Amino acid sequence: MTHAPSVSSFPRELVRAIPKAELHVHLEGTVDAPTLLALCERHGEKPPADDVEGVVDWYKFDGFPMFLDRYFTVLRLLRDPEDFALVAEQYMRTAHEQGVVHVEFHSSATGHILEGGKPWAPIHDGIIAGCSSTADDTDMTWGLIPDISPHLPAADCARAMDEVLAHDLEHIVAIGMGGPADTWTTDDFSPIYDRARSFGIPGVSHAGEHGGADEVRFAVEHFQAIRIQHGIGAMQDPEVVQLLVDREIPCDVCPGSNIALHAVDGAESHPLPRMLDAGITVTLGSDDPPMFQTSVLDEYERAWDWCNLDMTGMHALAQNSLDARLVKR
Ligand SMILES: [Zn+2]
Repeated sequence: MTHAPSVSSFPRELVRAIPKAELHVHLEGTVDAPTLLALCERHGEKPPADDVEGVVDWYKFDGFPMFLDRYFTVLRLLRDPEDFALVAEQYMRTAHEQGVVHVEFHSSATGHILEGGKPWAPIHDGIIAGCSSTADDTDMTWGLIPDISPHLPAADCARAMDEVLAHDLEHIVAIGMGGPADTWTTDDFSPIYDRARSFGIPGVSHAGEHGGADEVRFAVEHFQAIRIQHGIGAMQDPEVVQLLVDREIPCDVCPGSNIALHAVDGAESHPLPRMLDAGITVTLGSDDPPMFQTSVLDEYERAWDWCNLDMTGMHALAQNSLDARLVKR
């Protein structure tokens, strides 16, 4: 079947009711405008804007570098275990309201440790506390994916990830890579993935977001990534598409993020319909939802609109996300 734009309206309540997992969301990117202002107040920092509307405006970006700059400004406001517990719990509840039964939070671990000068253990324990308290009354499950930020030297990231791997691994379902890929071939991040695997922890990686298919191939071959975040650039090379299909490597695609950060020119040029047609396993995520004025259900709506899906298609995308989750057994 060819996926052409839909003509029928999105059945939001029916899609809300489908159990689904969200596998591509950054904890630090879930800080909404009121929470950002509260964190500034708590830590005596000058906020980037005076009110909620101003922060929502500040969460509009002309591209990836501007986004990364502001993302790391938010990251620096998350300091105490209570901050991490607050945002984890808030987002779990937001996701629960959209029918999400399992969340895998990416967290910029090396950013906190190396740039923020913060020890990992209290951060980790804060996130666990927030997720656990939500899980108690929602029955949700969750996992944590500490991310390497490749704008930092690989040797420093290795040291930071050693600190992560030396702490509680019970809820760490993978390690990941998030940020610009410029340094991947000039610096060596592969040993960090090797070391995580020695603890039984697999690797995932952002790739092919703003870059091309070569990034996706590199992440699969050098990091042995078992899931790719975004991966839309894979469509530039049929061999890389085949690699993803043959190895059954899902892509956790965030269409709203791609639009907000101009990774594609517009909805009509987003490769999501072609990814589905090619047989790539796609899961949908919201990436950094308040920063991109999106939500999990908004992402399902984009898939509905852009790919001419019906409820069978909605169920298939949700099932992909449940099948691709990394639950420790
Ligand atoms: Zn992401």
